[in-house]
Parts: sequence; C-alpha cells; structure tokens
Amino acid sequence: MSENCIFCKIANGEIPTEFVYESENVVVFKDINPQAPTHLLVVPKVHIPSLAQLNDKNLMSELLSGVIEATKKLNITDYRTVINTGSKAGQEVFHIHIHVMAGREFSWPAG
Ligand code: 5GP
Ligand code: ZN
Repeated sequence: MSENCIFCKIANGEIPTEFVYESENVVVFKDINPQAPTHLLVVPKVHIPSLAQLNDKNLMSELLSGVIEATKKLNITDYRTVINTGSKAGQEVFHIHIHVMAGREFSWPAG
C-alpha cells in the first residue's frame, strides 16, 4: 500500500468501487474517463509503479488472467489491451494497470 496512490486505495477497498472481477491479488474496475464504450483497468492489489518494476511471474500471470476472466464475464470477444509504461508513453497513474477497451473500432498501427 503506497500512500496517496489512488489505485492502492481502490484495490484495497479504501475507496468503495464496484469490481467487474476480483481474484486473490488482482481487481478489475471501470476507468473513470472511458476511452471506449467498455474501458476496464486490471490492477494488482500491491503497489508496483509500472511494468518495469514487475518481477513477480505469478502476478504477471494473474494480471493477464484478470483480462481474460473479466472479458469472458462481460462476453467481450474483441478488445484492445494497453500498458502505458513511463510518462513519455502516457502513464499518468504510477501503479501498474492494464487497460482493456472494447465496443468500438481501433486503428492499427497505434499513434
Ligand atoms: P495511464 O495514463 O496511467 O495509463 O492510465 C490511467 C487511467 O486511470 C486513465 O485512463 C484514467 O482515466 C484512470 N483513472 C485515473 N484516476 C481514476 C480513478 O480515481 N478511478 C478510476 N476508476 N479510474 C481512474
Ligand atoms: Zn498503488
């Protein structure tokens, strides 16, 4: 738990939030400023600032399982996953999270 970290507070129940999915070490909830009709965030309960600091292989696996299980639960088959790592890549919340976006067209290559 890192003080003043919004995702620590959400993931550990300090800020009441509806979880789309929850496992032992991971929660999934809706993004407050959605970039698609469905926009979820897959977030570990422990504070890890970014992908560059993630070295727990079990947690890596559990995060991807969070993507798979949450999308299955919502019957989403087509979706875009994004992990922004570092401010130059667009990371604003320094508690690792996987974006899951669905319900619209996505272009590729990404801008
Ligand atoms: P980043 O830019 O770090 O990859 O993504 C951070 C995301 O967290 C943004 O899409 C932003 O809308 C979302 N976000 C920021 N604060 C909150 C919050 O308090 N609650 C929720 N549900 N999402 C948040
Ligand atoms: Zn945190």
